[in-house]
Amino acid sequence: MLNKNRFNEILPSLQKICFEAGALQIKLHDTDLNYVTKENKTPVTDADIGSNKILTEGLRLITPEIPIISEEDYKGQDRHSCFWLIDPLDGTRNYMNTISTNMAEFPKVLKIANSYDNVFSCVGVHPCHIKDHPLVTYDELYEQTKHSKVIGIGESGIDLFHDKTTLDLQEKSFRTHISVARDTGLPLVVHTRGADYDTIRILKDEYEKGAFPAVIHCFSASRELAEESIKMGFYISLSGIITFPKGDVVCDIVKDLPIEKLLVETDSPYLAPVPNRGKSNQPAYTKYTAEKLALIKNVDYLTISSQTTQNFFILFKKAVK
Ligand SMILES: [Zn+2]
Repeated sequence: MLNKNRFNEILPSLQKICFEAGALQIKLHDTDLNYVTKENKTPVTDADIGSNKILTEGLRLITPEIPIISEEDYKGQDRHSCFWLIDPLDGTRNYMNTISTNMAEFPKVLKIANSYDNVFSCVGVHPCHIKDHPLVTYDELYEQTKHSKVIGIGESGIDLFHDKTTLDLQEKSFRTHISVARDTGLPLVVHTRGADYDTIRILKDEYEKGAFPAVIHCFSASRELAEESIKMGFYISLSGIITFPKGDVVCDIVKDLPIEKLLVETDSPYLAPVPNRGKSNQPAYTKYTAEKLALIKNVDYLTISSQTTQNFFILFKKAVK
């Protein structure tokens, strides 16, 4: 195991190398970094997962620390896979959460989660997929939550930006997802776009029937939606949007939100943060989102990374370290 002091000493250069290399396989031996390579590494990226069209839009709630793979992690693993590791201060591993967009492809999502100790998944139907599939039932969703790697419900919610004609169906599906989140205690991953009014209306109405945990993912909504969500104990997850020049409106809102309720994510394959805007988004880039968040909150990077890590595990209780 890497000595903590030594690690702290090399941390800045390690971070630099790691992220400039585009990530991601760094092998640590004893107390020294002795291997950094880009060879033979195709991390579990959006490209991999997205190539199966599983996640045209994916949530990757991960911790933004540098990814490290130890000798131990390689054992029995395909080196073409990459792990997003966590917690540089004690050498333990990073974790990734993939979302589900429809039930037909959920088995593929689950397979990925089952293939890696540190990858988890959610189950749910994205509001933009409502038209293409029969509405998911409570029982169908509930059944899938029995898998040990399924740690959340979603994403689900209301999207009137892409389709205003399916509000009724979206609402029905959203309420089904909420019921399962309430009954299982698994957090709901909420997608909301161009639909602040209806999202708040439904969340508040359902919350009054009984509390449930939730995260507003890829937050780009109004101050009111953020504040109402925080009142219900929900979390707010931030994407690369906060690094964009036009992200100022969101940043202004984030400035006033409690740090204990914030997460960072990719939301792939789009929304890669500056300086990688335009590239296919991937978990390693959350570092830049976390850096911007540190600036907004006027704290250092490690404070943000450890806080968002902690928040992740408080919210996604079923994710076992
Ligand atoms: Zn979404």
